[in-house]
This record gives sequence, structure tokens and C-alpha cells, in this order.
Amino acid sequence: MAPKLPIVDLRSDTVTRPTPAMRKAMADADVGDDVYGEDPTINRLEEEAAEMMGCEASLFMPSGTMGNQTALFVHCRPGSEVVVEARSHILNYEMAAMATISGLLPNAIYTEDGIMKAEEVLAAIRPDIYYYARTRLVALENTHNMAGGRVIPLEVQRDIQSVARDKGLALHLDGARIFNAAAFLGVPAREVAAGFDSVMFCLSKGLGAPVGSMLCGSAPFITEARRVRKMLGGGMRQAGVIAAAGRVALQEMVPRVAEDNDLARRLAEDLKGVPGLVIIVPPESNILILTVGRDWYGSEEPGEDSRAEGFVRRLRAHGVLALALDGVRVRMVTHFDLPENTVDRVMQAVASVGR
Ligand SMILES: *Cc1c(COP(=O)(O)O)cnc(C)c1O
Repeated sequence: MAPKLPIVDLRSDTVTRPTPAMRKAMADADVGDDVYGEDPTINRLEEEAAEMMGCEASLFMPSGTMGNQTALFVHCRPGSEVVVEARSHILNYEMAAMATISGLLPNAIYTEDGIMKAEEVLAAIRPDIYYYARTRLVALENTHNMAGGRVIPLEVQRDIQSVARDKGLALHLDGARIFNAAAFLGVPAREVAAGFDSVMFCLSKGLGAPVGSMLCGSAPFITEARRVRKMLGGGMRQAGVIAAAGRVALQEMVPRVAEDNDLARRLAEDLKGVPGLVIIVPPESNILILTVGRDWYGSEEPGEDSRAEGFVRRLRAHGVLALALDGVRVRMVTHFDLPENTVDRVMQAVASVGR
């Protein structure tokens, strides 16, 4: 029997497993009760993350969703509106939490490329007339996951920030993959984070930590966020064992995410010659989204796979995992926990599943 090849798991960068250095740091972590503020490893992680984002303070969160939603709760009052891009994570993949937890209404701006312009944000802000809800916050997502990992240029962020400031709105950045954006732009992450009242980023995606995200902002903001995190059930005890992996992620994994961006770009270069596949935008970061042509993969008969599902199912038989986003689109996400020959493996699998 032929030896079994390692799986090429491109479904997400959340599939990354903790590195040996992380596991060692976890085993050796100095811990205490964080609800009393006594876990030294968490305290160090929170200082280091704040420093990297150019913020006064930060808070260790069990998930990115809790980080985003805590920020919205602190910044906004029930009955107000939040301006978001239509395909944003905050709007689509967080269980309507802004409505259920904070009583907020999204004001979604649809854009072709995932990048809102300052004029569009300005037009979405409600005028100060008593029968309108108040617009309280603008949330950006950089990199933009469902827009094919697009990176919002810094000048676009700055223009939106100046519009929002002018209108007295708060600004939040969903920076789940902020280091991929920073690597593409060739700037330190703190420059991507600049000008926001709060920034959330994930330790558990391309940085490889098993659990956790950081919410960063001013000291008074973080004091409030700590209360909200507790209310949501996110107060943790000796969580230094997981924060230890987060510290290794910041020290050792941040400098290498450019390689993930580069791998996505190389993969796209090879895939773009394949008939029946269209890459929606050349990857700027570690996310590649493609549409699957009608006649090439899967079928559209009732009860059969969609083209995207058919494509993904056939790739799986060759040990390559990707994610069907809907009937026609498939996402592949690059990360450090992939085999050396990932591009070749994907190309071989694609070649053997085509019509
Ligand atoms: C993954 C992700 C989050 C947070 O997700 P969790 O699974 O809750 O950690 C937030 N925003 C974006 C853009 C993401 O990709």
C-alpha cells in the first residue's frame, strides 16, 4: 500500500496546532487567578499585546467573537446603529450578537471588494433628527476575510476615521488577521491599529496558539471591557496555561506570517491557469477565494452537490481540504501547519478532479 500523504488542510488558519515551543511554555507557565488579576502570564501577555498595538492596555479574550462583541457593548448604547461592511464577520458569523447582547442594529454597506470608502460611510451615518436611530460606531475588518483576505489600505482607514471622528463616532477594528495585513503593507501592526478606539486580533489563527484573542484600547476602555467580559462568562482563572502559548505566538509567529501571504499568492498563480476556476481577487494575504465554473466540478441537479461542494468533496478524496462558502465559492487559507509541497499537492488534486 502506498504511504498515506499528510492532509493539506486549507479550510482555515484556525486548524493550526500549537508548536512545540508553545507546548513547552504552556507546561512551564506561571499561573494565578486572573479574575483577581493574579495570573502573571496573562498580565505579561496583556502588556505585550498592548505594546504591539500601540495601545495603553489589552485584555485576553477566550475568542475573537467575544472580543468584538465586548467592544461593541462598551462603545454603544442599546438602540443605536453600527456601520459595517455587508460581508463582515461581526455581522455574519457572530450569531446576531450585536442585536441580542447589545441591542444594536447593523447598518451594512455592500461593497464589491469589501473595502468601504469614506463617502459611503458618511452617507450611512444617520442625520441628527429625532426619529432616526443614532449611529454610534464604525467597524472595519482588516484583513477582510470574506472579501478574499483583502487588505484595507492605510489611507482608506484614515479617511474613514476622520469622517467618523467628525461625527463623534467610535471606531473598532476587527483585526483578527491584523499581522497578515501589516505584512502585506510592510508596516508594523501598530500602524494598522492606529486611529481606532479598540482593536481585536486573534492568537488562535495564523499565529498558532490553541485559544484566545486580544482586545486592545485605552486603559479606561479595557477597565470597562473587563467587566463586560465577566458578564459574558469570559472571566477565566488559571488561564496562564493558554496565555503562555499566546506569548510565544507574539514572539515567534508574528515575524513569519508573511510566508503565509506568499504561499497564498503562489497557490493563486498556479490555480489561475486552471479552466473552470476563477480567483475572485489576487490574494493580498493568506486567504484565497475562487469560484467554481458550472461545467467543471460537481453538478447542479436537485439533491446533488453544488459545484462548490462537489469540488471540495472531490479534492478531499486526494487529501486536500478546502471550504465551500456557498454554492459556487470555495475558500483556501494558508498557514504554517501545511506540508512543504502544498502547492504541488493542490495542483495534483485539482488536475485529477476536473472534468
Ligand atoms: C475568526 C474571526 C473572528 C473571531 O472568531 P472566533 O472564532 O470567535 O475567535 C473575528 N473576525 C474575523 C474576520 C475572523 O476571521
